[in-house]
Amino acid sequence: MNPRWNGQFSRFNLVAKTSESCRSTVRVRDIEIGGADFVVIAGPCAVESEDQLLRTAEAVAAAGARLLRGGAYKPRSSPYSFQGLGVDGLKILRKAREETGLAIVTEVMSEEDVSLIAEYADIMQVGTRSMDNYALLEALGRCGRPVLLKRGMTATLEELLCSAQILAAAGNPDVILCERGIRTFETATRNTLDIAAVPVLKTVSHLPVIVDPSHATGVRSLVPVLARAAVVVGADGLLVEVHPDPDQALSDGEQSLTFREFREMMDDLDPYLALRQEARQQRPQLVAVGGTD
Ligand code: PEP
Ligand code: MN
Repeated sequence: MNPRWNGQFSRFNLVAKTSESCRSTVRVRDIEIGGADFVVIAGPCAVESEDQLLRTAEAVAAAGARLLRGGAYKPRSSPYSFQGLGVDGLKILRKAREETGLAIVTEVMSEEDVSLIAEYADIMQVGTRSMDNYALLEALGRCGRPVLLKRGMTATLEELLCSAQILAAAGNPDVILCERGIRTFETATRNTLDIAAVPVLKTVSHLPVIVDPSHATGVRSLVPVLARAAVVVGADGLLVEVHPDPDQALSDGEQSLTFREFREMMDDLDPYLALRQEARQQRPQLVAVGGTD
C-alpha cells in the first residue's frame, strides 16, 4: 500500500481495506457484485415507455447483462429537459423485472422518495449530482437495499469514500462504487474517465468498483473501448446505456449503444475477461486488482 493512501483513506474505517476486510461483495438475488463474475448493468438513461424498456430489457438480457438500469426520476441539468416518468416509470421497471428476471437499478434523488423507490428497485443509484447529499445518504442507510454510489463529477476519491462511509455508518454496508468520469479542462469528451480510480479504490477499499463508460465519455463510439479498459484495470463490472433508437432518446442518446452495438461490446469483452481470469489464477499476487499493495 502506498503509505500516503493509507493516511488518506484508512480513517474511513467501515469502507477501507484492512487485513480483516479486504474484499466485500454485494449480493442481489443470485448476483454477486465484487466477486468472481464481471457484472454488467445496462439499459436506457431514462424509462420512456413500456415498449422502449421491455424491448431494451430483453435485448440486454440476451447479450449477457445481469441487471437493468433506467431512470424514473431524472436529474437533468436543464429544467426544460425530460424529468422522467416518476412512479409510472417504476411500475414499468417492475414489469421488466417480472418479464426478464433482470434485477433493477434506478436512481433516487431525494430522501423523500427513498421508501417508494426501494419498493421497486433492487439497487438504489445515487447519481453524480447527489453524491454529497448527506440527508439522502443517511436515508439510504436504512433503506434495506444496496446502493450504487456514483462519484461526484468534481469529487476526489477521498470524498467518494467519505460518502460511502456515511452510508455504511448509517447502517448500509452494501455499497458499490462507480467511476463515471470527472470534469476536467478536456472538452472532446463529456467527462474524463479517471481509469486510475479503479485500481486506487480497489487498493484502499474493500467495496466493489464498477465503471460507467457512457457518462464518462458522452460519445457512443468510445464506450466499448473504455469498457475494455475497465476489464483490464480490474473493475467488477460496468454500467452502460443502451437504447432501441438512440437518436430518438429523450436523454443521453449520443452516448447510448444500439442493441447490436451492445451485443458486439459484450462479445468483444470475452477474450479480455478470459485473460484476466487466467492471470488471476496464475499470478494472484501480481494482478493489480487490489493485489499489488
Ligand atoms: C445516469 O446514470 O443516467 C446519470 C444521470 O448518471 P450520472 O449521475 O453519472 O450523471
Ligand atoms: Mn444518463
